[in-house]
Amino acid sequence: MDDRVRERIRVAGVVQGVGFRPFVYTLARELGLTGFVGNDVHGVFVFAEGPPSLLERFRTALSEQAPPLAVVDEITATAIEPRGDETFEIALSDSSGQRATLVSADSATCVDCLAELGDPGDRRYRYPFLNCTNCGPRFTIVTDVPYDRPLTTMAPFEMCADCAAEYHDPTNRRFHAQPVCCPACGPELRLTDSTGAVLPGDPLDRTVAALRDGEIVALKGLGGYHLAVDAANPDAAATLRKRKHREEKPFAVMAPDVAWARTLCEIDEHERELLESRRGAIVLLDRRPDAAVAEAVAPGNRQLGVMLPYTPLHHLLLAATGPIVLTSANLSDEPIAYRDAEARERLAEIADVFLGHDRGIHMRTDDSVVRSFDGRELPVRRSRGLVPEPVRLRRELPRPVLACGAELKNTFCVAKGSNAFVSHHIGDLENYETLRSFTEGIEHFERLFDIAPEVVAHDLHPEYLSTKYAAEREDVELVGVQHHHAHIASCLADNGESGPVLGVAFDGLGFGTDGTIWGGEFLLADLADFRRLAHLERVPMPGGDRAVKQPWRMAVSQLLSCYGTEPPGGLEVLRRNEPQLSVITRMCEGGVNAPRTSSAGRLFDAVAAILGIRDAVSYEGQAAIELEQLADREERGHYPVALPASGTLPDPVAAGAASPPLSVPAGQLVRAVVDELRAGQRGEVIAGRFHNGVAELIARLCERLRDATGVGEVALSGGVFQNTLLLRRAVDALRRRGFRVLLHSNVPTNDGGICLGQVAIAGERDRRGGNSPERG
Ligand SMILES: [Zn+2]
Ligand SMILES: [Zn+2]
Repeated sequence: MDDRVRERIRVAGVVQGVGFRPFVYTLARELGLTGFVGNDVHGVFVFAEGPPSLLERFRTALSEQAPPLAVVDEITATAIEPRGDETFEIALSDSSGQRATLVSADSATCVDCLAELGDPGDRRYRYPFLNCTNCGPRFTIVTDVPYDRPLTTMAPFEMCADCAAEYHDPTNRRFHAQPVCCPACGPELRLTDSTGAVLPGDPLDRTVAALRDGEIVALKGLGGYHLAVDAANPDAAATLRKRKHREEKPFAVMAPDVAWARTLCEIDEHERELLESRRGAIVLLDRRPDAAVAEAVAPGNRQLGVMLPYTPLHHLLLAATGPIVLTSANLSDEPIAYRDAEARERLAEIADVFLGHDRGIHMRTDDSVVRSFDGRELPVRRSRGLVPEPVRLRRELPRPVLACGAELKNTFCVAKGSNAFVSHHIGDLENYETLRSFTEGIEHFERLFDIAPEVVAHDLHPEYLSTKYAAEREDVELVGVQHHHAHIASCLADNGESGPVLGVAFDGLGFGTDGTIWGGEFLLADLADFRRLAHLERVPMPGGDRAVKQPWRMAVSQLLSCYGTEPPGGLEVLRRNEPQLSVITRMCEGGVNAPRTSSAGRLFDAVAAILGIRDAVSYEGQAAIELEQLADREERGHYPVALPASGTLPDPVAAGAASPPLSVPAGQLVRAVVDELRAGQRGEVIAGRFHNGVAELIARLCERLRDATGVGEVALSGGVFQNTLLLRRAVDALRRRGFRVLLHSNVPTNDGGICLGQVAIAGERDRRGGNSPERG
């Protein structure tokens, strides 16, 4: 036994609750190694003994052949004295001490489970809750750590003898699969009316019949309830839209499989991968003109959000129905309903029947939404299936950080070491329900990942509920982070970079360091600090928040700033709003209740209203989204903007009032839009040229800023870059000029990604030994 060696091997990452120990066990036995494998607070540990060449193969296989749900971050091996074990075994879990284990995300039904679901000879044939170590619920059912059955919502279900045998057998696919169950011992489906009275008959068959009859079904999923209707039934879709009140956002559709999805949308190779990913996200796809989907599903939209079945229940249902609408079960602006009684109460006026079950949901989690861009994934909403997988930080944080995020599309982040745990989508922090989700979510994450934040980062906006929450935390160091700096830092962290970079932050509204409202910003930024080099010229926002809801107000404001009180004749937007024009004009001119903003989002709103797309919106950014929908994507012309002469550029080194940021005359784009509109040009062409004009403006200004700073990397972030036409044109225009362009791929470009930037900034300042206030 001379050539035998023994190693202590550590595997870090998402390696618990994902079948890693059985995998190690099987691998070691195949190679004839002896020793044991176990879980502890730091991840998986292995003691393995055998010939050096086999140990090397073993270590390579540990990362290369890891189970599908595992994420191996690091493998370290230390040689120790051989002991002469005779077998290889699985050691019992050790759950004492400090927690460092990673809970994995919920995962779509795996191929093996699907095969069992459709096999009449299998004891789980057509069982809606089957799962294994490679798939099933995780984050949504975990109530506490360590991840073990008693600390999940499966705790009340006692395993039958068959399930227990599988659970304890290291060679079985269900070894230590915490949610393991079967028809004999697991959860059951239940079809009820809104009073909770159980309806007779087979729940699944009756649900299929209800959908066929055009009824609205409230369906309990992994992270909460959905509302479902037959996607091809115009009356059902229209009724659902009506009952959900004021809701104008497009509904997502679940298609039975990729072939079905291809009848609805154009799907390339990367998009197919996104659809079939175990994350089960909604993928935004270009809709086919002949898609058999009711008009009310996504009115006037070129795109459709499509997902595939990601639970056994979905698979069983969809096999009998064809595509269904599957939209979060809530009234507008409320969080998704997830508790049975609460769902029945809140949805009583919306749903006809309720298909629920007795497996509890602990953490409500919306569907994730992603899209493909240049063959990479752009997250739009990062939630079920992705959370709580951490984003890895390039450098370790000196102290644990909590970042509270922003106000709209809120997410928060708790971070320690090099792991940043970005939360699931919380929503708009403007009512009690979402605020409760936010505070309970933070408590849950802190416990789950054993993080006690010593540094708390927040937005500079004093009225955000997330800022107020931060101020109430005791015994922590508070770090205020400017909104657009956070956007750019988020993009840097998303790419594992630290800058300096030219940051183009285009979004709705964010509080500036000068107390004004920003949103069309060109920053020179790194993770510690930034300088505001330029911004879109400021215009009044008459009525403040009301101008967000009523884009026509921004149109009037832009027209006033372009033409004074003598705008050219024939503009419909002015005629339509004639009765209120004099009031709005006075607000703009007097500066009363009309804060000035450099927001790019509001510029898009103004142009949408001028083109007659809409005067009022039901959700933030709606007019801008519809402007993108209108634009002719083949149009290559663009409206020019004359940039100020080079001599007026700010000195990037000198700070303070001596060198104010450059104001970019974006109003020239508005003039061009007005000229072409009056000349009878088609709206599709104007919208296209406007988009191209904004992209050219970005690229040409960045060129100037590169000359002044020597920085040749550009980071694009902010909600406006969810507009893929603008993003496409801006990326192309920048690359043509030799820029390296950084985009998001782990967190959204919208405010849902802000918290990651806040973490990166708070950490970097902490590392440098002081949290100086943002100065811009
Ligand atoms: Zn499975
Ligand atoms: Zn069982």
